[in-house]
Amino acid sequence: MNSVFGDIGASVFEAMSRLAREHEAVNLGQGFPDDPGPEDVRAKAAEAVLNGWNQYPPMLGLPELREAVAHHYRRFQGLELDPGTEVMVTSGATEALAGALLALIEPSDEVVLIQPMYDAYLPLVRRAGAIPKLVTLRPPRWTIEERELEAAFSDRTKVALLNNPHNPVGVVHDKNALALIGGYCLKHDAIAVCDEVWEHLTFDGRRHQSMMAIEGMRDRTVKIGSAGKIFSLTGWKVGFVCASPPILKTLGRAHQFITFTTPPNLQSAVAYGLMKNDDYFLSMRARFQRSRDRFAAGLAELGFTVLPSEATYFLGVDIAPLGWDDDALFCRWLVETHGVAAIPISAFYETQAIRTVVRFCFAKSDATLDAALARLAQAAAAPAPC
Ligand code: PMP
Ligand code: GLN
Repeated sequence: MNSVFGDIGASVFEAMSRLAREHEAVNLGQGFPDDPGPEDVRAKAAEAVLNGWNQYPPMLGLPELREAVAHHYRRFQGLELDPGTEVMVTSGATEALAGALLALIEPSDEVVLIQPMYDAYLPLVRRAGAIPKLVTLRPPRWTIEERELEAAFSDRTKVALLNNPHNPVGVVHDKNALALIGGYCLKHDAIAVCDEVWEHLTFDGRRHQSMMAIEGMRDRTVKIGSAGKIFSLTGWKVGFVCASPPILKTLGRAHQFITFTTPPNLQSAVAYGLMKNDDYFLSMRARFQRSRDRFAAGLAELGFTVLPSEATYFLGVDIAPLGWDDDALFCRWLVETHGVAAIPISAFYETQAIRTVVRFCFAKSDATLDAALARLAQAAAAPAPC
């Protein structure tokens, strides 16, 4: 067995969803919305399955989707991308990440990672043979400290892997933070692999800023997006990766031997969806912001300490004021005793784990959020652990 995969357990999302099923819990753990996604986009996919092309599409993706991605990023992020040489379709952001890391890294290269980090990152970096160099974020502001970047980067750094907006903590790294990281990438000749899957899920008027738009970073950024998040269709696994032609060419070589292609019918539906008018994107964001506010207010009323959420489907709750100092134990107790599933933030740290913050997914209907709050009221009233 390869030790990277032989030595790890099932992902925390899978483990918590299994516990949620076993305990008939309200599942606010794994991040997926309970609305079914836009009907017109799903109808396009159905139509394409029935009457469209169901054989292998082009390896880099359907031209119509690659054009739609370039058009979409010009419209929303002011980026100029050549769909023919700078955009590739992948089977979700997960495949884009795996492919980028396999394509860019040589064994014993160093990769800068920012913890807490999405669970796939570290195993993929290790499996590619790289040495992880960790930068740590801490609550409540989760800011990137320059002295940590200074210590993590070196001339052996090949890649900096960044997630913005950030899952699990729901912060947006602003232009200054991106410029700071970009500066280190330039200084050490490193490539920024930027997981921007939450780019459309930003709240309170924030607009997504891509690492590609930072001075000097246009041609040393691999930008990763996912239709799963843009259209609330997390099971579709249609992702896109944008990079300068020489980088994209090599990413394509990895992609051709990982999945080779992505279902063409879903690709056509996503191409249609990306061209939807601004109303769809604005109202989608407003709906999730409203759910965030409803859930955050309900939690605060019950006495929970809610951390700010600037983006994503998630908010954090500080459990220290409740007398808890172990988020994994808290989550187990919450799902088993009170029937609500959440995710312990410590699962996303490799070292120096923060153990007092728990992540809840608020991308749910009012009825689901209210059911969860009713159960959380009992948890709030329970005596603190000894
Ligand atoms: N990166 C981050 C930060 C995510 O939150 C997710 C999924 N929630 C992914 C990657 C995976 O995206 P996909 O489902 O498109 O593979
Ligand atoms: N990205 C989702 C989350 O953060 C889960 C994805 C998965 O289950 N692998 O909850």
